[in-house]
Amino acid sequence: MKVRNPHSGLHDHCIAPLDAAAIAAHAAALRAAQPAWAGRSPDDRAADLMVLADALEASPDLLAALTADTGRHSVARLEISATAAALRRWAATAPALIAAAHRPSSPAAMPGITFSTAPVPYALVGVISPWNFPLLLALTDAIPALAAGCAALVKPSEVTPRFIAPLMACVATIPALAPVLAVVEGDGATGAALVNTVDFIAFTGSVATGRKVAEAAARAFVPASLELGGKDPMIILASADPHQAAAIALSASCRATGQACQSIERIYVARAIAEPFLAELTRLADAVPLNTASPASAGLGPFIFEKQAHQVQAQVDDALAKGATLLAGGRVENHGGLWLRPTILTNATSAMAVMTEETFGPVMPVTSVDTPGDAIALANSGDFGLSAAVLAGTLDEAAAVARYLHAGAVSLNDGALTSLLSDAEKSSFKLSGMGPPRSGAAGLTRFFRTRAIYAQ
Ligand code: NAD
Repeated sequence: MKVRNPHSGLHDHCIAPLDAAAIAAHAAALRAAQPAWAGRSPDDRAADLMVLADALEASPDLLAALTADTGRHSVARLEISATAAALRRWAATAPALIAAAHRPSSPAAMPGITFSTAPVPYALVGVISPWNFPLLLALTDAIPALAAGCAALVKPSEVTPRFIAPLMACVATIPALAPVLAVVEGDGATGAALVNTVDFIAFTGSVATGRKVAEAAARAFVPASLELGGKDPMIILASADPHQAAAIALSASCRATGQACQSIERIYVARAIAEPFLAELTRLADAVPLNTASPASAGLGPFIFEKQAHQVQAQVDDALAKGATLLAGGRVENHGGLWLRPTILTNATSAMAVMTEETFGPVMPVTSVDTPGDAIALANSGDFGLSAAVLAGTLDEAAAVARYLHAGAVSLNDGALTSLLSDAEKSSFKLSGMGPPRSGAAGLTRFFRTRAIYAQ
């Protein structure tokens, strides 16, 4: 299978997707190794995760591969740091969480009898991940699974597979970890085969594929944790500073070229400050450079997935055909790879796909609203509930609006806080996901079954 380079547009890499037999062989080997891993102390497993964090940060090959996968050197560097930070955070927190999951109890009504609850890790956790942050999302679920004592079989996206080899070279240097973590090349068929070989599936990707995975997992009686798409709203109240709001909105919509699951995709601004807000947003958007010269140059990166660029263009064209006004950007540019300058649309309505369907590009459709109530109603409309943002003159005012929002995470007076990088527990509402939070204590304890022990 040929793999396209997002910066040059050339198909300069190849993978051999694993078939069902190869996946089954990996699963068998991982299952055989898992009891020894689970038998190590939580502190020893945590120590190995710390070693992996150091190895990822010290690997020039990993940085080069991730840069080629995504076409953006600076974001690749940040992604490696974020993954190393996640490894260190779980290493620091997992031993205490595991200790807390062992719960003795002695009911007063039954003298001489003790009950206790012991956590039992699933033997093999399967992970299927998307292309937008290839390394971080391949490991976000695998890290707490490993910390809990599970083995992990990870199938990243076929769109961005170059990082797999250098990642596995880092893993190979850690003797106890290497037999229980396999990250493999493959496509959708590989992913479908994987679902049938594991005890728990953690999926990150689109709603359409998530539905297929959930159906297959249900047939196999395998619990599934799904992190899916979003259409995150930003509400800007009349008390917000319009210039500051413009800077926050631009960064929250366009970081990583808008190819982040938690990314602002629609903006509801108080009519009273709409004019200065849009003027500043347009000024800032027009000044953003593209990194067309090289992945290492400053500026907005290319679309990672060619098909995504065409989908984004179709949404922009649909909005313009239905009466939106274009203030900036608007046309995908071909410089080998495909780029879109930060794009601002005003007079956006819910009749336009750009206001209802996931965009996954640097597009900011803006609607002016008269009251906070109108903004809340519009923000809560639609199928998704991943995250949201509220900007106001004070935190209290922003928090008062946030409590009405149907979203698993809300940023106050900021637009880019992501729960992946914190210990806060975030659920995904509506079509944005299913299952326990992947961050905080639940992010680890979801990989345990519990055994009740009764002793006389
Ligand atoms: P996708 O659903 O097309 O693919 C995701 C993964 O599923 C890939 O590894 C793919 O090979 C695999 N796959 C495809 N068909 C399969 C099948 N039948 N069975 C099992 N696996 C299969 O998603 P994508 O285009 O790679 O990623 C973009 C999507 O991911 C967006 O919708 C984005 O919002 C979402 N996403 C969500 C989060 C989150 O945390 N909620 C994070 C990042 C991305």
